[in-house]
Amino acid sequence: MRLNLRFIIGIIVAAVSLFSYYFHTSKNEVTGETQHVNMSADQEIALGLQAAPEMAAQYGGESPDARGTAIVQQVGQRIIASTKAGQTPYKFQFHLLADDQTINAFALPGGQVFITQGLLKNLTTEAQLAGVLAHEIGHVVGRHSAAQVAKSNLTQGLAGAATIASYDPNSPGSSVAKAAVAAAIAKVIGLRFGRNDELEADRLAVDFTPQAGYDPRAMIQVMQMLEQQGGRSSTPEFLSTHPNPGNRIGELEKEIAAEFPQGVPAGLKK
Ligand SMILES: [Zn+2]
Repeated sequence: MRLNLRFIIGIIVAAVSLFSYYFHTSKNEVTGETQHVNMSADQEIALGLQAAPEMAAQYGGESPDARGTAIVQQVGQRIIASTKAGQTPYKFQFHLLADDQTINAFALPGGQVFITQGLLKNLTTEAQLAGVLAHEIGHVVGRHSAAQVAKSNLTQGLAGAATIASYDPNSPGSSVAKAAVAAAIAKVIGLRFGRNDELEADRLAVDFTPQAGYDPRAMIQVMQMLEQQGGRSSTPEFLSTHPNPGNRIGELEKEIAAEFPQGVPAGLKK
């Protein structure tokens, strides 16, 4: 019996990409989880920095609203300064984007965090803004993009794995690297997080917001606002890039009750 050569090569490719996926495991210091990730933190940071201008451009670019931008950056940095997120290698930068129609917030790997004017104008308190930003910070420290990229490399076999493997943040100028970077940017910009990523980002935000002095229940208000907006017009884009894992408000309530069995302490900013 003659085995088809392509078939054999296919098996080898699949085996190698499976092996490389399962071989590249690392323990996440913030979440305590073991993850399959094939990028270093430096690569995540470089990739996020390189993808940031393209991501921003899709939402009207950086906002001209200096006051709004300053508030977003202050609240974001306050969360970083007072939580485990600040002890990670990630370099956080917070961006307010000019699009005031789209309701969304998102994070690129390595610490680039974005919120649209459309979402900001629907928030009524600083604690609500903190909740949104803490959730995005949760996606960064949870390494959700990097884990998704590793997973899609698994399904696409060696081509994707080779792309990331050849990605050298220190010499992004070489021609092989340029193609690799373009592919990686397209990938992270198009990512949608899954149900478990959303729940983990919410859990991290429930941890982070009180440490930074904010009432975590403000996140429930944000979810209620998003649901109301969804009923009023079209679904806020936030809910499509951050899929609503069933009863997210219920999950948030459970998390908050677990973290504060005696009730949420008074004195947190609402
Ligand atoms: Zn999310």
